Amino acid sequence: MPPEQYETYEHDVLIIGAGGAGLRAAIEAKAQGVSVGLISKSLLGKAHTVMAEGGIAAALGNVYSDDSWRVHFRDTMRGGKMLNNWRMAQFHAQEAPDRVLELERWGAVFDRTKDGLILQRDFGGHRYARLAHVGDRTGLEMLRTLQQHAVAQGIEVYMECTVTRLLKDGDRVCGAFGYRRSTGQFIVFRAKAVILATGGIGKLWKFTSNSWECTGNGVMLALDAGADLIDMESYQFHPTGMVWPPSVRGTLVTEGVRGDGGTLRNSKGERFMFRYIPEFFKAETADNEAEADRWYTDKKQNRRTPDLLPRDEVARAINAEVKAGRGSPHGGVFLDIASRRPADYIVRRLPSMYHQFKELAGVDITKEPMEVGPTAHYMNGGIRVNAETTATAVPGLYAAGEVAGGLHGGNRLGGNALSDLLVFGRRAGQHAALYAKSLFGMPTVEATRLDAFAREALIPFQGEGTENPHAFQAELQETMQALVGIIRKETEMREAIARIEQYRQRLPQIRVDEGRAYNPGWHTALDLRTMLTVAECVTRAALERKESRGGHARDDYPSADPRFGSVNVVVCKRDGAVVTSLEPILEMPEDLRQLLREKG
Ligand code: FAD
Repeated sequence: MPPEQYETYEHDVLIIGAGGAGLRAAIEAKAQGVSVGLISKSLLGKAHTVMAEGGIAAALGNVYSDDSWRVHFRDTMRGGKMLNNWRMAQFHAQEAPDRVLELERWGAVFDRTKDGLILQRDFGGHRYARLAHVGDRTGLEMLRTLQQHAVAQGIEVYMECTVTRLLKDGDRVCGAFGYRRSTGQFIVFRAKAVILATGGIGKLWKFTSNSWECTGNGVMLALDAGADLIDMESYQFHPTGMVWPPSVRGTLVTEGVRGDGGTLRNSKGERFMFRYIPEFFKAETADNEAEADRWYTDKKQNRRTPDLLPRDEVARAINAEVKAGRGSPHGGVFLDIASRRPADYIVRRLPSMYHQFKELAGVDITKEPMEVGPTAHYMNGGIRVNAETTATAVPGLYAAGEVAGGLHGGNRLGGNALSDLLVFGRRAGQHAALYAKSLFGMPTVEATRLDAFAREALIPFQGEGTENPHAFQAELQETMQALVGIIRKETEMREAIARIEQYRQRLPQIRVDEGRAYNPGWHTALDLRTMLTVAECVTRAALERKESRGGHARDDYPSADPRFGSVNVVVCKRDGAVVTSLEPILEMPEDLRQLLREKG
């Protein structure tokens, strides 16, 4: 029995995660008249969403009036290699424009067309310039706007708190247990409904664009509570992360650089992407430089540049160029905007990229090319949810944002994450609140369970070995980078599973000293249990899909296999073990199938 009384709070709807998804959910739940609590590992305004750069995809049609939700739906499905939950893709494409306009009403200051409309930029896989943006700092503006609006509605915010366990009353979720990072004191939240909006899992890999928060906590919480995951094998390696200097390797270089005219070249100066146009995209992709360049100004006449093929295609092409010995000095390729756009345009359109390279790498991108290579970026899969309500299989538990799977299928298009947060964050808030309102009274929480969770969290202070949690985490990241990275094969993934098992055996040897207040070693030790489970989920799902499709590429099965063309890999926990299975995707209704056949 730990020596303290638990600090306890009650809310109708509890939201774990204060990024774009969590904040949008909070606003909607509050609008339903229920009490809302919002928890974040970091300070409010610092969630990973703040790092988003290029923009929010929404078919506003401000730059190309031919754009519509139908084209956005088609692009999203094709980008996702048809593994998407088509109903989610439909809602997403239909609702994204309203969600962006709503952000504008709440004070977001977007870049403008000369007619004063929200300006939209090109991104990979999108037929039309579709990304509403604020320079290359869109996430900052989005988070600022949502946060200001949410706080003004009277939402309770619990900053620097980490949830380690969900609480259950019978089958249903009834709150969360965690600790305050500043003091180490435990904290209990009782709630009628819980929304997971905890973001991604990018810290599983050594080279990543993701922030320290992205350790996959929500995936583990959902799995432990009894929810299913889907498409966990489908992880997006963004084609352009920094490769030099080593201390910043993986830091994102926005696709906006290519959207605004930047091109990829190898060490011979070749625009190599022309060699890697897949059959699927041949008809709509330019096969020569002149046509590719005209496309930036005239979408009607021309086929798109291969520099802006979907991310999975570009990342694999870069990987192949480096392997073939045509890489840049530090193991990437060159991304050149300096020779293609005037310096003042580059600084105005891409201010963060300009400063990032100047300050971190000593490179002036208005004069020299950047060196870039793939970096772990985005969880295409995640917790399986109902398209309409975002409900998981566990009563009272909802999920939205990067932690939820389905919308993006085998590969996410750039810009579709931020619109996902807005569309499904709103739906999660609405439906969780409706569910909470349908219940009478707060569910009960057993005190003995709380004590067990507290004891479990304190184990790292009692470790008998000398394992350092930070070194341990680095070892896991090395393993995932080497064995479950951008190109995978069975033997290596089996080795990864064996190592994960060994790591698990070593967990009790972790020893954390000092007190519970502001103790990053302790926080990392607690995250490790989560990271091992999530790493296992990704690896087992990747073993199950014996083909290459979208964000999942296998050396031993290099092609797409029709047998896997309309199935999801589902992951769940049975008797404490991670189990995978294949499930057919529901047949798409004829009206949506028709959209996929349309041209233009
Ligand atoms: P996050 O913003 O990651 O927020 C997660 C929240 O959960 C945080 O508040 C965190 O503290 C909290 N949390 C996590 N675990 C716990 C726990 N155990 N207890 C309590 N709280 C917890 N997408 C686009 O569409 N367009 C872009 O231009 C774009 N640019 C990007 C640029 C970069 C550099 C990166 C890395 C990603 C980019 N993305 C972009 C992707 C997009 O930003 C993310 O997918 C999205 O912001 C995730 O939002 P979220 O609300 O799901 O989670």
